[in-house]
Amino acid sequence: MQAKRIFSAFAFTLLTILLLLVVASRSGEAARAAASGDIDASLGPGMPPATEQVSLPGSKPEGQEKGADKPDIDISGWQYIVAGEGSNIGTYTPYVVSIEGTAQYFDERAITPLVDFLNAARAAGYTPYIMNSYRSYSAQEYILNGRASQIAWPNYPTQADYDEAEQYVAAPGESDHQTGLGVDITDRYYSSMNASAMDQTFLTWLRENCAQYGFILRYPAAKESITGWNEPWHFRYVGVEAAEYIMENNLCLEQFVALYE
Ligand SMILES: [Zn+2]
Repeated sequence: MQAKRIFSAFAFTLLTILLLLVVASRSGEAARAAASGDIDASLGPGMPPATEQVSLPGSKPEGQEKGADKPDIDISGWQYIVAGEGSNIGTYTPYVVSIEGTAQYFDERAITPLVDFLNAARAAGYTPYIMNSYRSYSAQEYILNGRASQIAWPNYPTQADYDEAEQYVAAPGESDHQTGLGVDITDRYYSSMNASAMDQTFLTWLRENCAQYGFILRYPAAKESITGWNEPWHFRYVGVEAAEYIMENNLCLEQFVALYE
């Protein structure tokens, strides 16, 4: 009788401890889930314990550090120059040459990869057309002035008009076109830069094949909050090594350059 009472007291204590352990572990999971903002990670009744790692804010991701496998390059090289809001390149002027005898110009150091890229598109059955390429600081200034004047018409443009114009036109020194390494490629049969009217299979082909010629999609839709632009036709030369890394890791140029800071 005595032995049975001791046994049931022991069993009760053991059960209580087990119960406390379960509660503690569940509230821990819930706290971690809430901290990461991932509601689905909280455990429902009868569900197996979550095995995936839920990272706490401010903690380092599991495994290697971000960008640990980045190419071993000198980021100060000419092919990595970033022109954008917050990184104005002033009156930077590359030496440019005509693209295939047209009135469009490109940095001489990257003209061969560009022509190879265009020829590959032709070989794949497309008819690439360079809509825009190199634009000087003063050409960019001219375009911005025009847009601001248009907004202000019939008055002279004010600062507010310029601010509005900069939502459509990059400021001088902040356009990728000024680097001499950016091109807007459309199909020759499309005369406007309207992505939805363009041949989607061609845009997809350009995206999937650009890296092997050293080009990246400069303004992907998903990176608009960083770059300020969404241009599915705008390709930019950075060299094969960087291009392959950028396209494989779904980065924009700003994010790539930041890996070297
Ligand atoms: Zn462009």
